[in-house]
Amino acid sequence: MSSYDDYKRRVLEMSKRLSEYGYFGSHSGSAGNVSMLIEGETAIAVTPTRLPYGAMTANDICIVDLELKPIEGERKPSIETPMHLAAYRTREDVSAVIHTHQSGASVCSVIDTPIPPMFDEVTLAIGSRVDLIPYALSGSRELHDNVTKALANRCHCYIMQNHGALCVGADLEKTFTFVELLEKTAAIYVQALATGHPVTTLPEEIAAQLHTATLERQNREIARRRALAAPRA
Ligand SMILES: [Zn+2]
Repeated sequence: MSSYDDYKRRVLEMSKRLSEYGYFGSHSGSAGNVSMLIEGETAIAVTPTRLPYGAMTANDICIVDLELKPIEGERKPSIETPMHLAAYRTREDVSAVIHTHQSGASVCSVIDTPIPPMFDEVTLAIGSRVDLIPYALSGSRELHDNVTKALANRCHCYIMQNHGALCVGADLEKTFTFVELLEKTAAIYVQALATGHPVTTLPEEIAAQLHTATLERQNREIARRRALAAPRA
């Protein structure tokens, strides 16, 4: 037993769910990765490298600090952990990161196409755009830096050029919803482009208004976390 057991179980369950839904691109492989921040600590629980999700147990989930130093676990963390750490360092509102190889977003990743705001409920949830993170090799410093730059837009979903998708959120459940909304919006956008008809997007002022609501939600989460971290009187 360890104080991290509950975090390991939640990361494991989310990973298996994403794998079963096909968001990792295959059901038998080990692609994609999931992490969550340990509340009140500068550490995360993250999936291990090269272990198929079907064989994964809670004990295989790694606990590392934000410098990638191992805290608990026998296995090596995913090679893409530095990208997760970039997200936690850049965004104080983020407590969960999911990296997938989901097909709709992957189509956008090979045609260099960011996704504009098209539906109000999606824009309210994930922010006013889905930007592209320029390609760099998995686990490289360059990819870490590209993620840091992209996440400054304070949205929740990103397309990773020639790779897949990255979603960030205040907890694993919300981030899973962002994965689903990204897949819906990517699939619709690609199909709409394929018709050859012009694609209408939300009016600029509506997209800006919805994005402001997204920022306010993030600010409330940042305030909640700062209050938790503050020393008690
Ligand atoms: Zn990947």
